[in-house]
Amino acid sequence: MTIKISAEIPYGNACDISIEEKSDTAVVYFAASPSDGPQCLWFCFRIEIRGKIRCIKLVLKHPYNMLMGGCDLSNILPVIKKDNSQWRRIGKTYQFHTLPDGRYEVSWLLDNPGKVNDIALCYPYGTPEIENLLKDCRGYWKKETVGVSTENRQIIRLCNDYSTAGSKKPGVYIVARQHSGETPGSWVLDGLLRYLAGMKTQDVVVWAIPLSNIDGIEKGRYGKDYFPVDLNRSWGNKMCRHENLVIQRDIARWRERCTPILGLDFHAPGGAEGEGVYFPFRAKGKLTRIKKEEIYWINLIGKSVGGEYMYLNYRKNSPVCGDLKNLTGLMFTGYFDFVLRIPGLCLEIPYGIINGKVMEIADYREIGKRIADAILKGI
Ligand SMILES: [Zn+2]
Repeated sequence: MTIKISAEIPYGNACDISIEEKSDTAVVYFAASPSDGPQCLWFCFRIEIRGKIRCIKLVLKHPYNMLMGGCDLSNILPVIKKDNSQWRRIGKTYQFHTLPDGRYEVSWLLDNPGKVNDIALCYPYGTPEIENLLKDCRGYWKKETVGVSTENRQIIRLCNDYSTAGSKKPGVYIVARQHSGETPGSWVLDGLLRYLAGMKTQDVVVWAIPLSNIDGIEKGRYGKDYFPVDLNRSWGNKMCRHENLVIQRDIARWRERCTPILGLDFHAPGGAEGEGVYFPFRAKGKLTRIKKEEIYWINLIGKSVGGEYMYLNYRKNSPVCGDLKNLTGLMFTGYFDFVLRIPGLCLEIPYGIINGKVMEIADYREIGKRIADAILKGI
């Protein structure tokens, strides 16, 4: 065999792998592993080539079992890192193949592969990117360990100001990667934090947990509806994951040291959703509650992010989780809304393409910058 495939790399995730080699071309079949969850989407793996291969067709199997959230699968555009180069998007060579029994596969072409080619659903983001951020921001962001994960990894929190008990300064608390595979949310947070550092703002107390589900991140899990319970289904009373306890205790410290005005939670939606950034919101019904403070921030952020990136109406209907009577099993947004009584908003950032525009790291960071700008205007 000229080609070797491995998911034993940082954030690695791939399964059901097979290879067909023919002269100087090859077809690599792969699927996203659900790991410990009912849902799958994130994938990340390495293709090593020993001989001469001119072109590889990458075939994603079982897309019908992945959390796509949309029907235009051409909105998925994986990223590739060839040898020592930077990650970049793969060429727009998407093809859809129907199989005789009604199943289907999608594929992309990889021309002139390197010796080592890492392929992922979207630009990876983890601890090394946080270290780069801290270095580039020259001390504006302070990093602390606020606790450990279920599997004993450190949970880090960044903050621009420890502040002091009873401070009247407005405060914003941010989390990302509750669903560990949702890297677009991290890149947006990265842009937000870099912008605030560049502005050297002292007007707002910002605390952020950038890698909430650190176990899932390190193990290459998608992390949605995770076993035994998804981080974002465990807020409020009777927490089911230690991570939620760690973050809630940190939120309590933050609340004492500012006037809390906003909570933000960065995610990515279904893999094929490409209509723009949006706030998932409770569908109309008994549990519907949208407060005027939430509308204020939704409109301010939506307008600032702007038409090229933002979903037309800013909000999309989304189911609510949790038991509001006992305040258990809540999402981050429900915890902020019903327990803390502070506006708490979730933002979904698409993985690949927004209205035909290919999303690059610079685009994600630009969205983060525009959100930061809205925060500075809104406080
Ligand atoms: Zn999510």
